[in-house]
Amino acid sequence: MSSGQLESDEETEEESTEESAVAMAREQLSRAAENVDVDPGVVERLKHPTKVLRTSVPVERDDGTVEVFTGYRAQHDNVRGPYKGGLRYHPDVSESECVGLAMWMTWKCAVMDLPFGGAKGGVVVDPKELSEDERERLTRRFAEEIRDFVAPTKDIPAPDMGTDAQTMAWFMDAYSMQEGETVPGIVTGKPPLVGGSYGREEAPGRSVAIVAREAADYYDMPIDGLTVAVQGFGSVGANAARLLDDWGADVVAVSDVTGGVYDPDGLDTHAIPAHAEQPEAVANSAGATTLSNEDLLELDVDVLVPAAVGNVLTEANAEEVDASIVVEGANGPTTTAADRILTERDVPVFPDILANAGGVTVSYFEWLQDINRRQWDIDRVREELEEAMLSAFDDVQSAHETHDVTWRDAAYVVALDRVGQAKSTRGLWP
Ligand code: GLU
Repeated sequence: MSSGQLESDEETEEESTEESAVAMAREQLSRAAENVDVDPGVVERLKHPTKVLRTSVPVERDDGTVEVFTGYRAQHDNVRGPYKGGLRYHPDVSESECVGLAMWMTWKCAVMDLPFGGAKGGVVVDPKELSEDERERLTRRFAEEIRDFVAPTKDIPAPDMGTDAQTMAWFMDAYSMQEGETVPGIVTGKPPLVGGSYGREEAPGRSVAIVAREAADYYDMPIDGLTVAVQGFGSVGANAARLLDDWGADVVAVSDVTGGVYDPDGLDTHAIPAHAEQPEAVANSAGATTLSNEDLLELDVDVLVPAAVGNVLTEANAEEVDASIVVEGANGPTTTAADRILTERDVPVFPDILANAGGVTVSYFEWLQDINRRQWDIDRVREELEEAMLSAFDDVQSAHETHDVTWRDAAYVVALDRVGQAKSTRGLWP
């Protein structure tokens, strides 16, 4: 465990040029506190994580050498229920990033009214540089290193950037082997064959599409012919783009890390390979003009969906954003400065903690299915997700109207109000 590490991580050279997730999360919390009747002591507590575990993860490479990776699990708050949040495998994983992302999970679960708190973890590694066997050994060893920190009623990991259903199956197997029994509820986002939920994989993209549809409706833009640009064609971006396309929108541009494609008449999103189908193949899709990721963010469209990585809408390009509304598919795609500029320019931004919350919502459904040992069919998952998203959208819409604040601030108001009330009801441990 370390807490001193947080400060030093925040001051690395990389993060002095890019706003850190924890700095963004704290700024957003302070803004929300201005509109919520909440004890300042509670707000102070919520600026900090409960605990952070930092661990070394030794892995035997295929050539027999041993490499030691660094892993983290940050637990932010559990007043409303067990800690919940993903595990990411990415070279930029850091302690402060995990803490910031864990804070966002607390708000995301609260805005959806799920009985969970917030956590996030990960390993500093580029998973593309590991073979499948190496990824399996890394996951099993990491599961072992954090086993005392997690449990189905304590802290429940899930997939995030660089991890997937297979990663969760290995994690659950490693944990279960030591317990001497199968414990499906230890993680969510598993394959449906071993206790996962149908519809979990598509869920974050589906919720982005639902929020985009509701947001467009709120601003009187019909879904039929709604022009949409989506940055990122992984699970979130591809599922969101394809659903919006199916519902009648014109998805005019999509991209992945190598670049994008553009067709003002609307692309056939089902014909463009998503990352899981064929990685980094978007820009080579036949029959469309190519464009860069930077240009995609500045297209004149009704809806812009940044669904790739964090910090893509910044002070440098926020003036150039020409979309009528922004719906955040990734976690933290808009820096605080960009958010301010977009607000000044009257471009509504529908925040990550609402828009991509379908992932953790179906994780909650999965957890319930694991406890009950009874799987739901895909129709039930989709119906319950639709209902949960509409109800959260309604709550955020009324905070937006009542407090006359941005959609992001409104989502934080809803979340902080719920967390703050839970804290004052339970009281502070003496
Ligand atoms: N990693 C996802 C997120 O950022 C899902 C977390 C979960 O299902 O616990 O929302």
